[in-house]
Amino acid sequence: MNQTKVIDFISQNVSVLNNVGNKTRQLLKKKNIEKISDLLWHIPQGFVDRSEIKTLDKLQIGKIATIKIKVIKYNFPRVRNLPNKVICKDDRGYIDVVFFNSREGYIRKILPLNSTIVISGKINYFKKKYQIVNPPYIVPEEKEDYVKKIIPKYALTEGLTEKMYRNLIDQVLGKISDFSEWHNNNILKKIGNTSWLKSVTDIHNGKNYEPKAKVYRRLAYDEILANFLVLSEVRKKIRKNKKKRKEFTNYLSDKILKNLSFSLTENQIKIIKEVNNDLKANLKMFRLLQGDVGSGKTIISLIVAANVIDSNYQVALMAPTEILANQHYLLAKKIFRYTNINIELLSNKTETKNKKLLMEELSKGKINLIIGTHALFQKSVIFKNLGLAIIDEQHKFGVKQRIELSQKGGDNCDILLMSATPIPRSLILTIYGDMDISRLIEKPHHRKEIITISKPEEKISEIVNFLKKLLNSGKQIFWVCPLIEESKKLDFTAAVYRYDYLKKIFNKKVGLVHGDMKKNEKDKVINNFLKKNINILVSTTVIEVGIDFPNANAIVIENSNKFGLSQLHQLRGRVGRGSDQGICFLLYKKNLSVNAKKRIKILKSTNDGFFIAEEDMKLRGFGDVLGYQQSGIKNFKLADPIIHEDLFKIAEEDIKTIEAENSFKRYNYLLKLFDKADIINRIDSEGSI
Ligand code: ADP
Ligand code: MG
Repeated sequence: MNQTKVIDFISQNVSVLNNVGNKTRQLLKKKNIEKISDLLWHIPQGFVDRSEIKTLDKLQIGKIATIKIKVIKYNFPRVRNLPNKVICKDDRGYIDVVFFNSREGYIRKILPLNSTIVISGKINYFKKKYQIVNPPYIVPEEKEDYVKKIIPKYALTEGLTEKMYRNLIDQVLGKISDFSEWHNNNILKKIGNTSWLKSVTDIHNGKNYEPKAKVYRRLAYDEILANFLVLSEVRKKIRKNKKKRKEFTNYLSDKILKNLSFSLTENQIKIIKEVNNDLKANLKMFRLLQGDVGSGKTIISLIVAANVIDSNYQVALMAPTEILANQHYLLAKKIFRYTNINIELLSNKTETKNKKLLMEELSKGKINLIIGTHALFQKSVIFKNLGLAIIDEQHKFGVKQRIELSQKGGDNCDILLMSATPIPRSLILTIYGDMDISRLIEKPHHRKEIITISKPEEKISEIVNFLKKLLNSGKQIFWVCPLIEESKKLDFTAAVYRYDYLKKIFNKKVGLVHGDMKKNEKDKVINNFLKKNINILVSTTVIEVGIDFPNANAIVIENSNKFGLSQLHQLRGRVGRGSDQGICFLLYKKNLSVNAKKRIKILKSTNDGFFIAEEDMKLRGFGDVLGYQQSGIKNFKLADPIIHEDLFKIAEEDIKTIEAENSFKRYNYLLKLFDKADIINRIDSEGSI
């Protein structure tokens, strides 16, 4: 087969293979196998060594063995539910081959009297005799090579036997041939120097199924690079030329900075410079500002907003919730008070009459900075000349939304995304390969590390006593009883119970927010907390990221052992954002698991969100870490960002070279193998995926 034919072949439905009827097709579909290529990427989970023929005196009970025997007698009881038996021997002993649910004719055919047969299966011992029940492999002596092998084991489903599956794999491997190599020698050397065909064949033929095996690594690298190639195309789509570059002096932003009550950190200054350079450049900016909770991203976005406004453009700042939008609005009002920048808030509460007026002013360019929720990007909102869109807490944005966003902004719109979800280094390019990244690592100087203390639930009264003192000094407290998917109802009852319990102790100063409340009810309680009408906020939902509660400096997290590191870190980041010492209590029910203990230990030892994200990934595997689900990264079939971290690094360099040399064409077949070519075509034709 030539290369194009191989691609055509493996892009077909499995039903074109021999022995795949409707039933088998349905069974395969259960394992997400529809196309022939899916068979290739369904990697064995282990292997069974059937290669050595054992004599009947060397059998081990409970182990799988391959034996060569002579058929000497049938025993067909003709009573329902009693199995058919075939007595066999070799020159060292006897064994019964036992069949449940079988027909006589079939047994006579596969095990003819006096013939020599090779059988492989699990050895049992029953009534003082060896037996082997419904063995998966029974072949005549001449065909013993088919069984005498190391045979890969696949994750299959009831009704789909190992033998059937192997037959399919063999059909596929028998047909495909190699591709002309797409990797250059340099890369090939780094990833183990095996060809595509050898890799695919070996991985399905023995012990090479392990992620660290050379052939596995080659295929994993192929997949990683295919992924990066797609992101690179997305990037080209997004990063178009602007019609006009932004021109500004630092006069306005300097004035704002001078009047701040704090000075920026080195890291903040550096990032502002990076963004300023983007604004002044020809290419549209598409930058992600990544920084731990409380690291001070908002001020960066407002300073650069001032620069954009200085160059006579409008700026839109979008937040995920009304409360956060409102906080940003108040902050902007405060820090821009020495300027004539005109700021407005567009919220659901804005009256229709005012909304109309707002829209009009916006379209005439009278409003310089508009702040709101996603309502800002409705079709009805028309800007005179939008120059910068800032999206806060954007971790829920997938590639598709990113492309849409870049198109919505118009010819001159730069884009700045901000996220508090720290991503481990090895994953950044995989998730955000289409963007430029600024990492805000340094925390504001005065900020004290949050002290983290873990306690079993029985000792809750100790915490209550501590909190009493805290409340007396005018501080506020979060009390989180997070809902866990499997036991939502129970958890909910527990949260209400806790709310009542705390109310009894602290009188009326306690509030409750939970997921079933309407949005405005929830907002009301949170606002009451912000206004200090209540001092303890019990919540079942995760309190929205980003809201600044400067007066809250303690958080209690119940059931903390049920949560991942990153999640706990994000939760505790709700407190200690002012200059006071923040404190976090992790409550747990008895008997912590080893992993839970590790998590608590790590949390106690550091406040560095990036480090925590790395550790989280190691402990849980990348798939479950907060925020990765939305990124599509789970779609890797072979590659694992932890095990193959080095390959991700190699691919990072590789993609740079490919971009510089513009050698995308070499990888056409690779993209097709992983079903990615389509994605790129769709970006081209529709501008979105
Ligand atoms: P996040 O990065 O989570 O969005 P914010 O921008 O809300 O964090 O900042 C958290 C708090 O830190 C705010 O109250 C903000 O005013 C303050 N802050 C930001 N930068 C500094 C700094 N350089 N020095 C002191 N405080 C700062
Ligand atoms: Mg924020």
